[in-house]
Amino acid sequence: MIHFHRPRPFVLLLLCAACNAPAPHTGVADAALPDAASAGIRRAEAVGRIVEESLVRGRAWDKLAALCAVAPHRLSGSAGAALAVEWAVGAMLADGLENVHSEPCTVPRWERGAVEVLEFVEPRELAGERLPILALGGSVATPAGGTTAEVVVVESFEDLRALGDAATGRIVLFARPMADGEPNPFDAYRGAVDQRSRGAIEAARAGAVAAIVRSMTTLRDDEPHTGAMRYADGVPRVPAAAVSTNGADRIASLIADGARVVLRLRLDCRTRDAVTSFNVIGELVGTELPDEVLVIGAHLDAWDVGEGAHDDGAGCAQAIEALRILEALGLRPRRTLRAVLFMNEENGLAGGRAYRAAHAAEMANHVMALESDRGAYSPRGFTTDAGPAGLAVLRELAAALAPIGADRVMEGSGGADISPMAQDGVPLVGLYPDPQRYFDLHHSRADTLAMVNRRELHLGAAALAALLYLVADSEEPLPRNASE
Ligand SMILES: [Zn+2]
Repeated sequence: MIHFHRPRPFVLLLLCAACNAPAPHTGVADAALPDAASAGIRRAEAVGRIVEESLVRGRAWDKLAALCAVAPHRLSGSAGAALAVEWAVGAMLADGLENVHSEPCTVPRWERGAVEVLEFVEPRELAGERLPILALGGSVATPAGGTTAEVVVVESFEDLRALGDAATGRIVLFARPMADGEPNPFDAYRGAVDQRSRGAIEAARAGAVAAIVRSMTTLRDDEPHTGAMRYADGVPRVPAAAVSTNGADRIASLIADGARVVLRLRLDCRTRDAVTSFNVIGELVGTELPDEVLVIGAHLDAWDVGEGAHDDGAGCAQAIEALRILEALGLRPRRTLRAVLFMNEENGLAGGRAYRAAHAAEMANHVMALESDRGAYSPRGFTTDAGPAGLAVLRELAAALAPIGADRVMEGSGGADISPMAQDGVPLVGLYPDPQRYFDLHHSRADTLAMVNRRELHLGAAALAALLYLVADSEEPLPRNASE
C-alpha cells in the first residue's frame, strides 16, 4: 500500500500552519516549484497535520492516565511492572499496531520494604526528629535496630578520601548540590549523580557504615528523590538512602555550626531473586521497505513512588501514540516503525540489552532509534549522537517542526534504553523537551499525572511522530554511525 500526498501551494500552507486546520485541496499543480522547496512544503504539510491530530484528537493523555491508574508503581520485577506489561500490550492492540508481542528479559527484583527512617540521636534537643528519606534502589537493609553513627559531610569523593580514617564508623552525607548555575539541569544532574550511584561504594571504602545522599533536585524542599545505586565486589555493602534537600542542608548547617550530629538510619529493603519480565513491541509495517526499521522507545518500568508519569509513562504513551497518529492520518511511511517499551531502564537496563541481543541479526537494518525519556514538557527539539552527515539530515528534516518550536537538533545522547544499539552504528536520537522542571519531581512521589500538562504531552507525541515519519519516509536512509 502506497500513500500519496499531493503537495499544496505555499500560501495555503502558511495559512494552514497558522490556523492548524486541515488545508483544502485546490488542485493547483506545484510542478513549477524547485524540488527542495517542494519537499519542504510536503514536510511542513505533514507536520501540520500531525500536530493538529495530536492536539485535537490525540490520545496520549488517555494512555498515560490509564497506565498511571493501572500500574502507578512498576519497578522491575514487581506486580505493578507485570500489570504495566499487560497494559502496554492492550494499548498497542487497541491502537491497531501490528506484530504486537512481548520479548523476555531477566530483571532484578528489589523491594523497598516498609521501614524508612532517618532520625536524630544528637544533638539531644533534636533526638527522635525525623528527616524525609527514600532508600536508594538496590540498597541493603540496616540491622533491625538501625545503624546509628555520627555524620561526616562531604561534597565529593576527593573530600571523603582526604578525611583518611575520620570517616571510619561514620555515616557519610554526600551533600554536593546539583549546580544552580548550570543552564541545563540535566548537566547539573550529571555533575552530582555520582554521589547517588557510587556513594555507598566510596563510603564503605572509607570505612563508613552508611551513605546518605542529598536528593538530586534543584528544589529546596522536603521531597526525597530515589534512584539507582551500585555496590562493588570486594567492598562491604552499606545501606544507602536519599534525604530531602532541606534535610541535607539542615544536617550540614548543624555540623558547620559546630554541632556533633548523630543519626539513626533504619531500612528494611531487600533484593530477591531475579525474575523474567518483558519488553513490549508493536509496529506499523513499512509500505516499501518493511525490513528497514526505526525504533521509537521509552521505558515501561518506573520507580516505586509517585506514578512515573513523566519518567517514563509519558514516553510510553507518546511512543504508541506516535504510531497511532501516523496511521490515523494515512501517513504510514516507507520503512517500518517499531514502538518498543523497554523494561528495567531504572535499575539495570536489562530490556535495552535484551532487545539488542534478540534483534542482533537486524541491527544493520535499524535506520534510527528515537527515545522519549526526559519528561512530558514542551518539545524543543532533539539530541543525537549522529555523525556530521546524519546530523545535517536530521536538522534539515526537523526544520519542519519550527511551528511548534521543536526544530533544534543538538549533539548529545539518544536515551538509555536505546544506547546498546550505538555499538551497531544505529544513529540514536532523544526527544528534548524543555528541561527546567524535570528534576523537580524526577524519581519522587511528586511524579504524578497531575504534574503533566496535556497539551505539552501531546506536542511531544507530535514531535516524535513527525520526526519518525520524515526519517522513515525519506528516499535515502539516515547515514549510519561507525560501529563500535
Ligand atoms: Zn526515565
